[in-house]
Amino acid sequence: TAPEAQLEVRGATKRYGGLTAVDSVSFDVRRGEIFGIAGPNGAGKTTLFDLITGMVRATSGEVLFEGSPIQRSSIHEICHLGITRTFQKPSVFDSETVMGNAVVGAHFGSGKPWWRSLTRDPEVWDRAGAALEFVGLGDRAAEVSGPLPVYDKKRLMIASALASSPSMLFLDEPFGGLTDDEIDALLQLLERINDAGITIVLIEHVMRALMALADRVLIMDQGRTLRQGEPREVMSDPEVVRVYLGSS
Ligand code: ATP
Repeated sequence: TAPEAQLEVRGATKRYGGLTAVDSVSFDVRRGEIFGIAGPNGAGKTTLFDLITGMVRATSGEVLFEGSPIQRSSIHEICHLGITRTFQKPSVFDSETVMGNAVVGAHFGSGKPWWRSLTRDPEVWDRAGAALEFVGLGDRAAEVSGPLPVYDKKRLMIASALASSPSMLFLDEPFGGLTDDEIDALLQLLERINDAGITIVLIEHVMRALMALADRVLIMDQGRTLRQGEPREVMSDPEVVRVYLGSS
């Protein structure tokens, strides 16, 4: 039997005036896989994430999650279905504690009124604490987030996403700006998240990380799909090599 598609993107298109940021992109993400997206600057990768996660409306096309269309659902509805994302820039609430950030993430997956979640729902706090433990920040829950180094902010952003109990995690360039050792540590963390049964879709420029993690990759260029398939095959494709060399 064919592997089950957890997410199906069909002809996804986003136009901004005369510019087509995402142009008829189609792909499936299978349950439990790690799916990579790459391509030069401005290729449309982040816009593709935005339209899957409900942050922008697709101009046309369809997105199916677990077989149901979500292209008209709100960010909150999509989050409650089990899709969470992180952003390219480490975005945490700087003045909040590490635990505070994780609680905000946990609240989004709870489906409960914010005042109940944030102030007294023990289940939300438990999930936030468990997510911090998972990424190795358990003993730093009381620290203020602002002064944390980049890697810790990235881990915190991932913990906050995990705290909403997603079944599919979208990561926008998680390896950007990390040292080699931090890249190794994040590779291990993402493997553990995937081993816990969470499907991962990531945009990534760091080829070493993409090649180590991704079961399949999609290469975008100027809004379109250039190639998709098995990473080694796709990345050695002359057209993909040309686009990458041409953009650097
Ligand atoms: P990068 O690797 O630099 O993050 P990307 O592949 O993620 O690039 P996008 O950020 O999705 O590319 O941008 C794709 C194109 O759409 C770019 O030309 C960008 O300027 C344009 N674009 C993105 N968002 C908007 C917007 N809100 N309004 C107008 N144009 C936009």
